[in-house]
Amino acid sequence: DHRSPGARPVLSVVGTGYLGATHAAAMAELGFTVIGVDVDAAKIAALQNGKVPFFEPGLPELLSTHVESGRLRFTDDFAEAIGAADVHFLCVGTPQRRGSNAADMTYVDAALDAIARNLTKDAIVVGKSTVPVGTARRLQERLAVTADPAFQVELLWNPEFLREGRAVQDTLRPDRVVIGGASPAADAVMRQVYGTPVAEGAQYITCDLPTAELVKTSANAFLATKISFINAVSELCDAAGADVKRLADAIGVDARIGRGFLNAGLGFGGGCLPKDIRALMHRSTELGADSIVRLLHDVDEINMLQRQRVIDLAVSACDGSVLGRRIAVLGAAFKPDTDDVRDSPALNVAAALHLRGAQVQVFDPEAMDAARHYFPALHYVSSTTEAVENADVVLVLTEWPEFRDADPVALGELVAHRRLVDGRNCLSDPAAWRAVGWTITGLGLGRPAGD
Ligand code: NAD
Repeated sequence: DHRSPGARPVLSVVGTGYLGATHAAAMAELGFTVIGVDVDAAKIAALQNGKVPFFEPGLPELLSTHVESGRLRFTDDFAEAIGAADVHFLCVGTPQRRGSNAADMTYVDAALDAIARNLTKDAIVVGKSTVPVGTARRLQERLAVTADPAFQVELLWNPEFLREGRAVQDTLRPDRVVIGGASPAADAVMRQVYGTPVAEGAQYITCDLPTAELVKTSANAFLATKISFINAVSELCDAAGADVKRLADAIGVDARIGRGFLNAGLGFGGGCLPKDIRALMHRSTELGADSIVRLLHDVDEINMLQRQRVIDLAVSACDGSVLGRRIAVLGAAFKPDTDDVRDSPALNVAAALHLRGAQVQVFDPEAMDAARHYFPALHYVSSTTEAVENADVVLVLTEWPEFRDADPVALGELVAHRRLVDGRNCLSDPAAWRAVGWTITGLGLGRPAGD
């Protein structure tokens, strides 16, 4: 146990979106006093009322417990938040820049400047956002110019690996804590902050700043590559009449390969993997590291092609044209257990079919508000049964349990035609669907004669 007997540092969390709100609540759960700060006053007001403005299992309970106890609070006043804390976690967004593959660093720079301007004592700035390699060194130089020289301010990097949908447990019990560029004194503080997860088995890995930045982006690049690999194999399976699901089960047994992230289907989306691999391509090009650029270019392209393959399956299920056809789209979130629709493959496919003249009816158990906000042109309904009513084809595009385990008999009575495209290869029991007359198609599922 590395926890020092000294006083616990007070923590600020700058940027309270998916990452920051979760981090703030989890740090309060670990016993720290935490102040979250954000430029979005409406978000801050919701959080301070104990309300999480997005869907994340377990987070509302954790948040309201600690807001009520007073250990966790939120403000849009930077002077108050920064002035009160010893350690500042930088958790703002790094989205893809418009018209470029590069990450937009304006939020990171602005948040760092706000920290620097409002310091009232020595501090540690802990970068958690996913950033292009080299950012942390640049921010160190920026801090040296902007922060009051009366205070000792150290910047280190601590990339975040949480998964939406499991963000709370990933933050309370991470596999690893990566700390880049910390002095011995800052390292001791980080060991105190992460003392509980490390005592419970998380690996504490120290490295330099560029390594810490690259640990995050190369982990995402590897996961994206794994998904595009199995999707490329699924195309081969379709051509050869093989079954990619059985294949993935069989190759995934090998510990060198592993079964995780080996599900063929509509591919990856969301607010992280697509923009992170593109930012990595952009930065690698700047640095002249061309091999990773070539690899990720193909990974990205294969991933985007999956959406077209699912559109093609929908078109052929409708005998060649979707014009005027009624299509049930089950799923809007980019994956289950989240309401995040940023770069959602499901909504991309729904929008493409809508543009081809189909009557698309979209339902998602959690992401309806977010979907309506980002894709207002689509038609949304309030249940699975409403979505499938009179449908010419049903598309399962997000693998929510209620879609995986839907009742083929009950739904069969509502649709116009018993045709389903399983865009995630996720139906729990496709044989049960076929047994009651459904035609099921998917990616790499093989094509039994007559199907
Ligand atoms: P998000 O868009 O949900 O949240 C970003 C927040 O930063 C917003 O609330 C925004 O208002 C706030 N913000 C912007 N400028 C600010 C400023 N100057 N000062 C204070 N707050 C400001 O994004 P997110 O999903 O939480 O991602 C944040 C970062 O974490 C990104 O770099 C992302 O790549 C990384 N990350 C995200 C996840 C994830 O699953 N969402 C996982 C690991 C890493």
